[in-house]
Parts: sequence; structure tokens; C-alpha cells
Amino acid sequence: MKRPHIVGSILLAVTLASTSCAPGSFVVPDSFAPTVILVSIDGLRWDYMERPAMANLRRLAARGVRAEGIVPAFPTKTFPNHYTLVTGLYPDHHGIVANNMWDPLLQARFGLSIREAVADGRWWGGEPIWVTAVKQGQRAAPMFWPGSEAEIKGVRPTYWMPYDGNLPDAARVDTVLSWLSLPVDRRPSFLTLYISAIDEAGHRHGTNSPELNEGLALVDRVLGRLIDGLEARGQRDRVDVIVTTDHGMADTSVDRVIIIDDYIDLSIVRVVDWSPVIAIAPPADRIDDVYQQLVNAHPNLKVYRKEEVPAYLHFGSHHRVPAIIGIADEGWSIGSRQRFEERPEWFAGATHGYDHALESMKGVFVADGPSFKDGAVVPAFQNIHLYALMSHILGLEPAPNDGTIDSVRTLLRVAGIPASEH
Ligand SMILES: [Zn+2]
Repeated sequence: MKRPHIVGSILLAVTLASTSCAPGSFVVPDSFAPTVILVSIDGLRWDYMERPAMANLRRLAARGVRAEGIVPAFPTKTFPNHYTLVTGLYPDHHGIVANNMWDPLLQARFGLSIREAVADGRWWGGEPIWVTAVKQGQRAAPMFWPGSEAEIKGVRPTYWMPYDGNLPDAARVDTVLSWLSLPVDRRPSFLTLYISAIDEAGHRHGTNSPELNEGLALVDRVLGRLIDGLEARGQRDRVDVIVTTDHGMADTSVDRVIIIDDYIDLSIVRVVDWSPVIAIAPPADRIDDVYQQLVNAHPNLKVYRKEEVPAYLHFGSHHRVPAIIGIADEGWSIGSRQRFEERPEWFAGATHGYDHALESMKGVFVADGPSFKDGAVVPAFQNIHLYALMSHILGLEPAPNDGTIDSVRTLLRVAGIPASEH
């Protein structure tokens, strides 16, 4: 459906793009079209931005808009939520239902380090915004993002790189800045940046550790480098920068571990994913037995058949969700006896994945640029709405999704009218 307020140059641009056969023949009508950089700082819990190290982030918020938090989708894991941010779909609808999955139709396993799975478009449902952008004649450049290495709906991003966790954060920023310095007919309108340091420090050392605070300082310097780079190019007031995250973080303990083989026989089931959401695929004739053994087994473990997962979690309909799901209470972990005895330290630190309604799972959301209000603070919102928001700013017709622009108009300088029109 065309939005009636999209007039003038944007409508012309979209029309030109959709009627042109060669993507390269698209002519940008303005010397600087609306541009969005989506920055994800993995595991940046909503309250971290009050810590001393985050001065650049607070400066960005003071000039722009800040939400009291962004509410992730369930499960509050990295791949499901990064892909929700760029598709506007719940994990149950886009198919990345966990970081570790088994697809009974593909007869294949998905994991973050299984490169051929990550690069296989069959795993990635829905339409990420870089596909929406390219299909409508814009250029998109995800600098690391889950899904960006796959061809999805027959489309690849204009510019992208295979994930390399060793690439220094400063080099990631410089790559984004170099793409923004391209001539107007090659410059992308949608870019991403992904930084993982906080998540790793949180997992290993906990949310109040010196290591985590050092990670925050490092991340804040990276944000400073991005802001300075935009300033130096005269693009600070032309580009919308969104800084957000995939989930928060909750401290765990070796005293809060659910040993799953105290209750079920691990030799008869496939455990697809472990903690703090355990996904169990028993043989069809053993589903009821395993469910009965687990359902009231531990006071801090909620156990559901996939079709009985509570509706507010929006989870359980996808064929990649196995028959039985167990969700640990906040701060609890799930493991096997062997794992716990061999690697007890693995259960200390902090983690995420829990019920998305928990305060500890909420993340930071800050946005600054021509589309956003100045110095505003707005209530927390769900991350399913970000795709609609970014599509709106970029003048893109969004693919079907679970979010709405109406849920996030309050962030915008002129609600309902793209920044390019005023
Ligand atoms: Zn993450």
C-alpha cells in the first residue's frame, strides 16, 4: 500500500527505481538522500548508558532521542533479535528461532559458527531491510549483521563483508565511513555497524565487572570515532544514526544451575539448544513422557509443549521450534551434569535469552539525525517496530512485518513526514 504522504522526490525515486531494469541506472534526485546507519552494540543493557564510560552515547542522546529501552523479541538471543531488528518479524515468523537450530525439513543444523548455514539463504525468512532497499533501487551496506552473508529472496546487499570477529572495531567504523564517502551514485542509504565487545565481557565476567566497564569505554570510543568521522565529512546533520542492541544481560551463578539430566535421559532426546532456553526434540512417541518428566521438575524452569508456549512470547509455531521448550528463570542456567562438573565456570558470569518482558533483557535505544527529535526521551518500545521506522525514513515501501510505524512515530521530528521533505 502506498502511503499518501510520500510525494515529490521520494515517490519519484521509488517509481524510477521500480520501473528500471538495471539497478545501476537509478538516479538519486538529491545530492544526499535520507541515510540510516544502524549500530548494534551487542548486549548493551538499557541502564549501561548511565555508567561513566558512555559519555559519547549520552552526548548523542542529548542531541537526539532516547527511548527508555528497546524490548527484544523472545528468545532474547543474538541472531534471532538482530534479524528481528532488520525484518520487523518475530523470530517465529522469520525463522531464526535460536542461535542453534535443527531444521527437520532441510535436515540441517544451524549454528553461529557453521559458516555454510549462516551463508545459506534458506535459513533466513522474511525480508531484511537491505533487501527492501536494493529491490527499490537504493544501495545497502551492512558492515557485519546476521543474515548479510546470505542471498535472501535472490538479493544480496550492495556492499557487505563475511564476518570476521578479529577485525578491529575502528576498522569497522572506517569501512562504514568510506562507504559514505563514495560518489552519490554509489553511496549506500542503509548501513550497519556491529560491535561485540560488551556481550563477551558480560558473559565472562558479569554485568558489574571492571572488564565490562572497560568494554563500555572501548565501545564509547568507537561511537566517538563514528560521530567524529561524520562530522569531518559534513554528514553529521544529514545521516540518521541509530544506536541500539539485540538484548540485555542478567548475572548468573554456579548456585543457580538446572541439571537437566537429573530429570530426563539425555540419550533418548536431541537437545537442539541449551541455555537459558532449552529446546528438546524427543522421538515422536516419547514427547509426552519427556514433558511429564520435566513439567514440574524444577521450580525455576518453566516447561511447555511448543503449541502451549504463552501467547505473549510469540513463539512455538515455526517448524524449527522443537516439541518441548524449557525457559529458565532470570539468572538461572541449564546444563548437563557432565558439563557442569567439567566446566563450572561456564555457568558464572551473565547471560541472556530469558523472557523478553524482564527489565534486564531490555536494551539501549538512541537515535540522532535529521529525522529524529532533539533531546527527547520516549517510552520503551518493541524492536519489531524498527524495520517500519527505518523503511519510513528511507522512503521504502516495507515488506509485510509484525511492527507498525504508529508505534514509533513519537521518535520522529515531524511525525509521519520523512525528514527529506522539510
Ligand atoms: Zn547478542
